[in-house]
Amino acid sequence: MNKHILIVGGGYVGLYTALRLQRKLGRELRNGEASITIIDPQSYMTYQPFLPEAAAGNLSPRHMVAPLRRVLPKVRILNGTVTEVDHAARVVTFQPAEGEARKVSYDVIVMAAGSISRTLPIPGLTDIGIGFKTVGEAIALRNRVLHLLDVAESTDDPEVRRRALTFVVVGAGFAGVEALAELEDMAKDSTRYYRNLTPADLRWVLVEATNRVLPEVGPEMGKWTLEQLRERGMEVKLDTRLESCVGGHVVLSDGSEFEADTLVWTAGVKPSVIVNSSDLPLDERGRIKTTAALTVAGTRDAFAAGDVAGVPDVTNPGQYCAPNAQHAVRQAKVLADNIIRYLRGEQLVDYRHKYVGSVAGLGLHQGVANVYGVKLRGFPAWFMHRTYHLSRVPTLNRKVRVVVDWTLALFFKRETISLGEVEHPRDGFRAAVATMRH
Ligand SMILES: Cc1cc2nc3c(=O)[nH]c(=O)nc-3n(C[C@H](O)[C@H](O)[C@H](O)COP(=O)(O)OP(=O)(O)OC[C@H]3O[C@@H](n4cnc5c(N)ncnc54)[C@H](O)[C@@H]3O)c2cc1C
Repeated sequence: MNKHILIVGGGYVGLYTALRLQRKLGRELRNGEASITIIDPQSYMTYQPFLPEAAAGNLSPRHMVAPLRRVLPKVRILNGTVTEVDHAARVVTFQPAEGEARKVSYDVIVMAAGSISRTLPIPGLTDIGIGFKTVGEAIALRNRVLHLLDVAESTDDPEVRRRALTFVVVGAGFAGVEALAELEDMAKDSTRYYRNLTPADLRWVLVEATNRVLPEVGPEMGKWTLEQLRERGMEVKLDTRLESCVGGHVVLSDGSEFEADTLVWTAGVKPSVIVNSSDLPLDERGRIKTTAALTVAGTRDAFAAGDVAGVPDVTNPGQYCAPNAQHAVRQAKVLADNIIRYLRGEQLVDYRHKYVGSVAGLGLHQGVANVYGVKLRGFPAWFMHRTYHLSRVPTLNRKVRVVVDWTLALFFKRETISLGEVEHPRDGFRAAVATMRH
């Protein structure tokens, strides 16, 4: 009998689970005893830790994603969204990119839908805020920063110039700090090509509601990072909240007010919205309630892992695993093996991994790391950051492409052109049509 394994989400957990199942269930997949489907709106898995480098132009965006169909030839890939999970009936509602929604049934489901930006009802946020979780956001942000340098260089209006050159990032976790540091480094680098811009004209503001930055590398290295950012001229406002940003008029809880054209929101994540349209149990933080063996608590035939799941941290009783790639990749491995054990009626094993610390890039040749208690800063940390992520990015093909990108950037200066035009590809054609004589 064919056992259909359905994976909701083709990110870290989805890709790595499917890769392992594809390898270990080779015979069953061949003779029709098992089949695997991944549903994801995208046809690729995004290696998110490389988003800041892609935004800074050190990496081509195409090289930081793994194409699902090429990497998983034995897996059926459906592009679209799961809008409802009816686990009691073992069926999901699948909304393809085009056309009518349809039902897809399964025998075993893997919830791997990850997380989305956790936002707050702040006036103006939906108008000018941008997240930093997808390739689209990272590249749009890069284009925007470079475009605003062009705007500032070409205007005579000091207000327009000041506003264009003010960049705000809210949230000082690794997404926010890396995005800020890499973009600042790129923009600073780019000013050499402008006659009327110097690095001192750029204003970078990091707003953080707590009293620390980069908690992922521990208090000592977090403090060092804070000093580094300040030494580089960035304003870091701790214990401060964004109160409003209507029309780009930024108001902070410390009383300061200023105009900015760019506001990046990286103040935490929450589980994918699919959790609210499913009959799977949730924990107190709204994630799928998961056991240490990565099954969905109190159910049969359902597994979950990664950012969407509340996985107990057995190395730290009473706590949950943090939502990061370090856990997601390792959980995927255990999850795939547990599915195989489950199908064979064997005992499942618990997921156990003690968080080993983190590495972060802070711009070209700059970084910070705290891994297995080894604390590094500056160039050695940056080197470790690159080697670690190179070893982690999926497939040899992508690794080679990433190394080629980095090598090119070593010998030639990085690209600093804004291709924001791709966001409005029909403007030129429309203008041409408008000039047509009847
Ligand atoms: C900028 C940035 C830098 C980071 N750096 C690091 C780092 O240095 N180290 C680290 O450990 N972690 C890092 N992380 C965190 C890490 O990337 C995440 O924890 C990891 O991606 C979680 O894996 P996941 O599989 O749970 O989710 P994801 O990898 O996000 O995958 C979820 C997938 O589900 C899909 N999906 C969502 N909803 C649906 C639906 N309804 N139907 C179908 N598909 C759906 C999405 O399209 C997505 O492809 C970083 C994150 C960001 C944003």
